[in-house]
Amino acid sequence: MEKKNTWETYSHKQLKEVDEFAKEYMQFLDMGKTERECVDTIVNTIEKDGYKELQEIIKEKGKLKKGDKVYAVCMNKAIAMFRIGEKPMEEGMNILGAHIDSPRLDVKQNPLYEEGGFAYLDTHYYGGVKKYQWVTIPLALHGVIVKKDGTTIELAVGENEDDPVFFISDLLIHLAQEQLEKKASKVIEGEALDLIIGNKPFLIDKKDKEEKKDKEEKGAAKEAVKKGILAILKENYEIEEEDFISAELEVVPAGKAREAGFDRSMILAYGQDDRVCAFSSLKAMLEVEESKRTACCLLVDKEEIGSVGATGMQSRFFENTVAEVMNLLGQYSELALRRCLTNSCMLSSDVSSAFDPSFASSFDKKNVAYLGGGMVFNKFTGSRGKSGSNDANAEYLAHLREIFDKENINFQTAELGKVDLGGGGTIAYILALYGMNVIDSGVAVLNMHAPWEATSKADVYETKRGYVAFLKGAKL
Ligand code: MN
Ligand code: MN
Repeated sequence: MEKKNTWETYSHKQLKEVDEFAKEYMQFLDMGKTERECVDTIVNTIEKDGYKELQEIIKEKGKLKKGDKVYAVCMNKAIAMFRIGEKPMEEGMNILGAHIDSPRLDVKQNPLYEEGGFAYLDTHYYGGVKKYQWVTIPLALHGVIVKKDGTTIELAVGENEDDPVFFISDLLIHLAQEQLEKKASKVIEGEALDLIIGNKPFLIDKKDKEEKKDKEEKGAAKEAVKKGILAILKENYEIEEEDFISAELEVVPAGKAREAGFDRSMILAYGQDDRVCAFSSLKAMLEVEESKRTACCLLVDKEEIGSVGATGMQSRFFENTVAEVMNLLGQYSELALRRCLTNSCMLSSDVSSAFDPSFASSFDKKNVAYLGGGMVFNKFTGSRGKSGSNDANAEYLAHLREIFDKENINFQTAELGKVDLGGGGTIAYILALYGMNVIDSGVAVLNMHAPWEATSKADVYETKRGYVAFLKGAKL
């Protein structure tokens, strides 16, 4: 089958829109490097668009009606948005679902130590990473520290030009003969991913020194660098060492999203899996002003580690929120809720692997997504004989083809890679448990899960167009 290059399908006006959309997307990436930051950014955006918080409406004993916009947040890490359509919810919604967590290194609960004159934060990686990619690059620290009294301290260090950054060391090439014999999965081990955060001992001025000499001499000499870091944390953030126990700190690549290529056709940035689908879903949701069926955008956490936990897709958060929304519409019953979920259509929006000519043998050229090839549909994901996959129905795919062709959306169908080479999963199978039609769809990404991932500006824009067409047209 002949595949179109998306760039060639655009008018002059659309080419301009592609660039504007990419610019906005890159800002979104810069503002949301953690799931909490993403939720904050999204809430700020949608409240300006008239979205109201569900719990607020419940508290005020309010109601919902056709055309209303409402959202619910789960523990600051997942969000569900609804724009109420003309038809009763029982007839089903059109749902765009994506995830806002990305692979990274999480700081452990007892992380701070000193060794060889360096202060370190010990980490535990989150999601699938090639560990050797995370050494010797500038890293930033984002997250929250919650004090015992409930105060939350937000932290983001390493993004501004005059911020310090952090890094993980690697062995110099001169001494790496043995290291380079190792398997790539062992070259850098999980426990070696410790972040260097300081090298200067705590300095006491001369007068104090005299006074404290006896008391402090031994202690200060022992862990003076760690002590220095603790003094800075105390001064700048009011943090004590024990506060790491109730912190969620994420180590992510430092720096802003960049345009890539002389032609500026691509975007190179951290966390595009899956914030690229989250952003395009959000924008589609805001663009579609009315629809027959209720439109829903669901952005969840923990996809990268199996969709577990209260904020992951497997939690009851979404189902409970739909029940609350139906209740406020005066449409709730247990049966109506079940029907609503069963009758819904969903695009489980996640990234797909892009064909990489440097590793051509890992892909089936006929069934792979190409950067610039438009929005991607993965009928199934999984691994080894489709294991663990949601395999979308042919009838559903036919319906989507009809909608997309009508709106001239450039799309491609793909598998993650060659049969039996590996695989992956998304949130699709979890929503499919309700009996609704779900298919994996989204944007192709080059070097997925690397600190810096690449996408095509054209694909990002085209995928948003696809989501708009879906929200307006799906009704299976
Ligand atoms: Mn993903
Ligand atoms: Mn992923």
